[in-house]
Amino acid sequence: MNAEIIRERIDAAMKKAGRNDKVYFTAVSKTRTVDEMKEAEKISWVDFFGENRVQEGEAKRKVYGDSRISWRLIGHLQANKARKAIETFDTIDSVDSIELSERLNRIAGELGRIVPVLIEVNTSGEASKSGVEPENFNALLENVAGHENLRLDGLMTVGPITDDEREIRSSFAELRGLLEDARTRTGLELPILSMGMSGDFELAILEGSTMIRVGTLLFGPRDYSKH
Ligand SMILES: *Cc1c(COP(=O)(O)O)cnc(C)c1O
Repeated sequence: MNAEIIRERIDAAMKKAGRNDKVYFTAVSKTRTVDEMKEAEKISWVDFFGENRVQEGEAKRKVYGDSRISWRLIGHLQANKARKAIETFDTIDSVDSIELSERLNRIAGELGRIVPVLIEVNTSGEASKSGVEPENFNALLENVAGHENLRLDGLMTVGPITDDEREIRSSFAELRGLLEDARTRTGLELPILSMGMSGDFELAILEGSTMIRVGTLLFGPRDYSKH
């Protein structure tokens, strides 16, 4: 695991950004074994695991045992898997529609839970990306913030697939703008701005990210053939 190099790069980016607040680290554990995840848990500054599929997360969590780390769902969630998602994960970072928000709130209520969530926004304009479109963001924000069984903690986005740093930064800056706007509109603290992955986390930190989600750089290349 490349922990030391990652830590140095995070610290350097924070310094360059003139920041001394905290950036949370989500170890993206999709396709990784439970043993690999336990190794990652030993790294003191790994704050969360991130999984993108409900089924995979459920299977691993069943056998994982006790963990100091909470598990986040970072992949697209189909409404019909909402119950399983709430039962499996501590937080849902990919709320992207009113239908899903309604359903999560109802099920959380049935289970007597208050579920922390992020709204995922498609800031890249890429059709293949999940996340609410920016023009529909305010309606979804109002819906999520109005639900008593959901606790809105912030926003998430996946940056565009490009080498153009300006384009990547402008996508992250857009999310930061939406977050600042959302704070004003809702009066909520909204501490989490989840953006930045293996290829672009330094740019995300420069644009104010408070949570990066790193898989490849920590664990090595993913092997999807095993899944
Ligand atoms: C896979 C994934 C990541 C991590 O990607 P890497 O490039 O492996 O760091 C981050 N966020 C989401 C939503 C993902 O699906």
